[in-house]
Amino acid sequence: MIRTGEQYRDGLRDGREVWIDGERVADVTRHPAFRPIVDVKARMYDMAHEPSYQDALSYVEDNQRLSTFQRPPREKSDWAAKTHALDLFFKDIRGVVTRVGDETVGEMWSLRDGRDVLAEIDPRFADNIDRHIEAVLRDDIFHVSANTDPKGDRSRPPQQQDPDMMVHVVRESDAGIIIRGAKYETASAYADQAFLKPTLGAWTSEALSDYAVGCIVKMGAPGVKHLCRSGFAGRGSAADYPLANRFDEVDALLVFDDVLIPWEDVFFYRHTRAAQHIRATLHRYSAFPFVLRLLYVADMMVGTALWNAKQTGLDKLQGVREKIADLVCYREGINAHLTAAIAMAEPSPGGLLMPQQSMLYAGRVFACANLPQMMHVARELCGGQICVTPNASAFAADGSRPWLEKFYTLNDAWESDDRRKLLAFARDLLNSDYAGHRLTFAQFAQAPHFNHLAAVYNSFDFAGPLDFVRRSAGLSDRVQGSL
Ligand SMILES: Cc1cc2nc3c(=O)[nH]c(=O)nc-3n(C[C@H](O)[C@H](O)[C@H](O)COP(=O)(O)OP(=O)(O)OC[C@H]3O[C@@H](n4cnc5c(N)ncnc54)[C@H](O)[C@@H]3O)c2cc1C
Repeated sequence: MIRTGEQYRDGLRDGREVWIDGERVADVTRHPAFRPIVDVKARMYDMAHEPSYQDALSYVEDNQRLSTFQRPPREKSDWAAKTHALDLFFKDIRGVVTRVGDETVGEMWSLRDGRDVLAEIDPRFADNIDRHIEAVLRDDIFHVSANTDPKGDRSRPPQQQDPDMMVHVVRESDAGIIIRGAKYETASAYADQAFLKPTLGAWTSEALSDYAVGCIVKMGAPGVKHLCRSGFAGRGSAADYPLANRFDEVDALLVFDDVLIPWEDVFFYRHTRAAQHIRATLHRYSAFPFVLRLLYVADMMVGTALWNAKQTGLDKLQGVREKIADLVCYREGINAHLTAAIAMAEPSPGGLLMPQQSMLYAGRVFACANLPQMMHVARELCGGQICVTPNASAFAADGSRPWLEKFYTLNDAWESDDRRKLLAFARDLLNSDYAGHRLTFAQFAQAPHFNHLAAVYNSFDFAGPLDFVRRSAGLSDRVQGSL
């Protein structure tokens, strides 16, 4: 059944060990660094109970109301429903967040697509996948993703350095397996559980390894420690940093200090072929909601640049319109990939409907690789005033207010307060610490660029181009056999 925001908050008060800036956090729902983003996630839960949103954010199955965001997709309309629900959510919170559950739950569906492969390798665990997918749906669990280990010296296998540089199993008991190591993870401190799986390395050439482990980890389990980076909320006022203060998604180094994983939460263990399988298919669903976020980031850049040009009258210039058109092409390029990926959606091995894979992965490369350039275009269109404008308190103080009103009032429609607000918004979108962090997030959070490209290479059907060139160049039939 769908949860309420308050039930979600109660679930976070489980004695979890969270550290930030040297302080042990007593309650993440109340701490200033976490409260804004916990409130955003709680709002996502609460919206599904409100009459005006309920039919979009939830659906009824077996007399139970379940979340649209958690629904395994079987029809194109399921993808349209998810997209619509996210649109309502972003418009309600008036911003963009990424790791709020719908973008990570798809990793579990990918694992179920490989159920038969995993069952063939080790039949003990296949039922656990089905049960966990059902549990996420029925209990409305906020699920995040644990992929990246610290890894240490990449030129050495984990066995030849501190073995904890990559998560591994140290022993097993009747109750389950005991894991040690660490992962980088956005939102772990305020999520319910994570799907943990390995980063692949040289060790995967072995048939069996203690490093080949995939499981569910409860974020409040004994031995789990969330060592968070410093938050952006509260570094400046909300009037000056309107995005950082509402939408900072705090990342953590998540340490596993001999954590017991009960057998019912284990998906695979020791078989490196299982680890390779899940890594190869991990983002086949979840890349869609990830890229969809960047469509909204593009909208924010288009809107910010155009409002700025309208405020200053620069929108009348052809050269300015061309730069805004560049931003629009970026926005529509993302839109086209996402639209096509669903229009051409494919059945998955597990009976779900997955976005057409090469279109989706090419869209992820397009959206992530062009983001730095597009942020630069938007920043350049906003001009230097985004980084030299005084803060809101200067606009309010007696001594400076008259001067700032004089120089920031543009005409009858644009008074100084709206000019200041737009410039503060633009700074937090394009120029602030938070803006830089979000750019890095887009480049790495789901996977690094080389991994995005590998996904394109592995999903594109090369038969068409190869055959076209073979015929066009008059190559012999023998070359066909060399493929
Ligand atoms: C803001 C943020 C949030 C994150 N959130 C999460 C999360 O929620 N869950 C999670 O699991 N991880 C998360 N990560 C971690 C992220 O997945 C990793 O940063 C990413 O996988 C790269 O690993 P690394 O940082 O250790 O880079 P490294 O492995 O040190 O690589 C650094 C660079 O070296 C080059 N390189 C390395 N290996 C290769 C190769 N084989 N081929 C070509 N080039 C290569 C690339 O240029 C690469 O970017 C997050 C990261 C950031 C920055």
